[in-house]
Parts: sequence; C-alpha cells; structure tokens
Amino acid sequence: MSGISILGLEGTAWNLSAAIVDEDDVIVENTATYKPPTGGIHPREAAQHHAAHIADVIRKTMENGNKIDAVAFSQGPGLGPCLRTVATAARALSLSLDVPLIGVNHCIAHIEVGIWKTRARDPVTLYVSGANSQVLAYRAGHYRVFGETLDIGIGNALDKFARSAGLSHPGGPKVEELAKQSTQYIKLPYTVKGMDFSFSGLATAAQEASRKYPLPDVCSSFQETAFAMLVEVTERAVAHTGKKEVLLGGGVGANSRLREMLEIMCEERGVEFYVPEKRFMGDNGAMIAHLGLLMYKSGYSTRVSESKVNPNYRPDEAIVTWR
Ligand code: AMP
Ligand code: MG
Repeated sequence: MSGISILGLEGTAWNLSAAIVDEDDVIVENTATYKPPTGGIHPREAAQHHAAHIADVIRKTMENGNKIDAVAFSQGPGLGPCLRTVATAARALSLSLDVPLIGVNHCIAHIEVGIWKTRARDPVTLYVSGANSQVLAYRAGHYRVFGETLDIGIGNALDKFARSAGLSHPGGPKVEELAKQSTQYIKLPYTVKGMDFSFSGLATAAQEASRKYPLPDVCSSFQETAFAMLVEVTERAVAHTGKKEVLLGGGVGANSRLREMLEIMCEERGVEFYVPEKRFMGDNGAMIAHLGLLMYKSGYSTRVSESKVNPNYRPDEAIVTWR
C-alpha cells in the first residue's frame, strides 16, 4: 500500500465502526452494531456497547499492520455519551501511534463519502438519517444548510411511529415493506416552513391514524407525505443554487420510494441524481476516514486540547479546507 492512509472511527449513535482508507479505496472496515433490546436507542446503553466493543473493533481493523498516517473520529453531531467514548479511544490511539488526530463533522462525512463513491462533484445533498435531516450544498468555504428539520430527524420519526405500531427498531425498513401493500392515501400533516420541515406532528398524526386505518395505508401515507416535503425542499435548493447534481445520503436513503421520488424530480429538472452503495449510506467508519484523509491532505489536524466532542456540531460551522 502506498500513499496516505487514515484510520476513521464512527460511533455517533447505534453503529460503532472503524475503517482504514487510502486515496483509492476502503482497505478494511469492522463494525459492531448496538441493537436496543426494546424501544429506541438509549444513549448511555449505546455508549456502554461502544465502550465494550471498541478495543476489539480497532484491534481487528489494525491486525494486518497497515500504515496509519492519522486517526479521524466523529466529533459531532451525535449522542454525547457515544461521542465521548469514541473520542477517548481516538485520542489514545493518536497519542500511542504518534500520528495527528482529526475531528470531523459527521454530516459532512456523509456528503464527502457520497462524492467519493459516485461521480457527483458539487451536489445539493439530501442527508436523511435517524437524528438528522438536512439539505446541504457547498458555497464559499462552508457546506451551507439550505433546509433542515425543525424538530426530529425523519428516521427517528419513522422509528417512533413504527414503535407505536408494535414494530421493532429500526422501524424505517419495516414501514417501507408494509407500505407496499397499501391501497389508499390518508391525508397527514405536510409541514414545510420556508426551507425547513418538521416531522414530529406527522409522527403523532400517523400514530393516531393507525388506530382508524389499516397499517399499510398509514405507512405509505407517512412516506408519501414526509418524502414529498424532503423532495420539495431539495428541489428548491437546486433551483436556488443552480447546481446540476443531487446526492442522497444517510440511512433513510436506503428507501426505494424516496429514491424514486427524487429521481423523478431530478429527471424533470434535468439534473443528475446520485446514490452511493448502501454500505456508504448509513453511519460507517469509512466515511470518517475518508473525510479525515481529505482534511489531512489539506494540512488540518485537531489538537487534543481542542478535541472535545460537540453533540450539536453543525455542518455549516466547519471550515472546508479541502475544496
Ligand atoms: P443512520 O442514522 O444514517 O445510520 O440511519 C438510521 C435510520 O435509517 C433509522 O432511523 C432507520 O429506521 C432508517 N432506515 C434504514 N433503512 C430504511 C428504509 N429502507 N426506509 C426508511 N428508513 C430507513
Ligand atoms: Mg449519520
């Protein structure tokens, strides 16, 4: 192996993952996934899961003796206890290997891995995950947030609704499956304010509707309503920025109905639509390592004294040094 290679650690929520990437590809990746026994993700329990598995995940990732030029980690946003656990490991590793530490913004890592793994160059990105839902695009030194959720992320809204209907976590894929058997559309609240959207009222209304209507119809109507909101804002960001590409990222991006709706919008607007392979959509260590590599090449590193995690780290706060 030649060139630069970076070890990346991800553990903002349910997925603990370590990867080494170089400029061409992912060399190795290992993951340990926290699955709540009941209910949703409990931050402290997820952090305990990460603490219990992180040594093993790192050991496996390093066992082939690959060269490591820097250690990158998710500095935020995410669940505080999870972030702190993984950041502690990252600091220790960077000190013991005597290589730079690089704190990366998790949302931007989703965008950059998508750009790396597709032919997108300068897209409007729809990033839809458990906790986050944002429409972003690069402009003058920052990834700007053009629109975002005013309350909970679309994934959490789907999971919350699914849980109330007796479906296990994560609910998103189960809602997608059930929606395929739907025969009617039920009107649910469609909330777009300016360029922002909100999902918690929709989740509550869907919970109520599921007492009156067949579950597949509510699942499908939830998807149609929420995804139309996301596609509307993405389309307006495309119109405003004049960009010619749309990129989808985040775990909810696995949903085929959302992809279909975005594809239709992009086709009608004459812009390209890009979706990376599924392994790069949900949270993964490779995306952290990849963004770490871009930052490392631009001369960036994080002093240990500045490596405190930030559960509310906004992507527009990060200065883009690598573009
Ligand atoms: P992330 O936070 O990016 O790892 O994504 C996790 C979220 O993606 C969870 O809320 C899941 O319910 C959601 N998700 C995963 N697959 C799907 C799917 N096929 N449709 C909708 N949501 C999904
Ligand atoms: Mg994520």
